Amino acid sequence: MSQLKPTGVIYSDDYLLHETGTHVENKTRLIETWKLLNENQIFNTGKVVHIKPIPANLEEIERVHTSYYIEQVKERCARGGGWLDGDTVVSEKSFDIALLAAGGAIIAGDKVVSNELANAFCLIRPPGHHARESAARGFCIFNNIAILARSLRARYDAIDRVLILDHDAHAGNGTSYTFYDGEDASKVLVFGFHQIPLYPGTCYIDEIGAGNGEGYNFNITMMRGSGDPQYLAVMNEIFDPIVKQFKPDIILVSAGFDAHFSDPLTDLNLTVQGFGNIIRKAKSAAEKICNGRIIILLEGGYNLSAVSRGILQEISVLANLEIELEDPPPKIDPETEQYGKKLIAQIKELFSPYWKFY
Ligand SMILES: [Zn+2]
Repeated sequence: MSQLKPTGVIYSDDYLLHETGTHVENKTRLIETWKLLNENQIFNTGKVVHIKPIPANLEEIERVHTSYYIEQVKERCARGGGWLDGDTVVSEKSFDIALLAAGGAIIAGDKVVSNELANAFCLIRPPGHHARESAARGFCIFNNIAILARSLRARYDAIDRVLILDHDAHAGNGTSYTFYDGEDASKVLVFGFHQIPLYPGTCYIDEIGAGNGEGYNFNITMMRGSGDPQYLAVMNEIFDPIVKQFKPDIILVSAGFDAHFSDPLTDLNLTVQGFGNIIRKAKSAAEKICNGRIIILLEGGYNLSAVSRGILQEISVLANLEIELEDPPPKIDPETEQYGKKLIAQIKELFSPYWKFY
């Protein structure tokens, strides 16, 4: 299907100014990706436009984070940087660049909701999905996707229900707990794939949300070795029925390319075509249910080739570029296949008081 409006790619070279040295989450991730996108001339197709981000203001960040925490990050950066927790390092410019990452997500939201763009990919860093209300976690400073969800709900009548799909190998604990049990917990449904056991060691399958949010928090806990067939089965059997019943007004995606088989930090087996297929399913749901509104935000992924190729593939799906990258599919062992089937049955049972599966 051809789209009348283009896909937006939100990017600025300023994202390279969040200096993390030899840390795995470093600027070469974006340098390599930007290079690959341009080598493939995606901006000459008439289907993809480059959008420059503007920094988010503090009121937007405060929709998710405490002003005390925001001030702490600002001060640490003003003093030249350092470690915010055992995993998360900042440099002098990191505070400003973290505002620019959240601002990149917000401008994508504005342009998609106003129909200027069909959909968008936010090529941003630092990532966000581990960041907590008052703490940096797992390379993340501000929770870009949670900020975007709350910002859209607060500012647009057209956006009431938001579905967040997270395909990073690590649990998006910051996102999940932000919408676990609050006023908006039944309005922002979190559907997170992740490997267990793995950092952060939370977000188990039976953490289904609480109070207002009971039944709105999905932890799809993948066994090490899980790959394209296991993810696709969950998308077909769980995601599809949920998205039809929840009827989101927009789908937001936390895209982590560390679920790729080559990633140095994790043990999953997705391929680039697997990432493309997840987005194909999500985009098709968005087209049926919410006017095609889907925005993807970059989270993790530490094999440079997998990150850059995975992003190109997802943008190709968003913009119908017909670029189809392919990896040889890794072999999935029988124990993992069995686990994948049991997992689907378990999720259906856990969520049967809240949703229908058909
Ligand atoms: Zn990750």
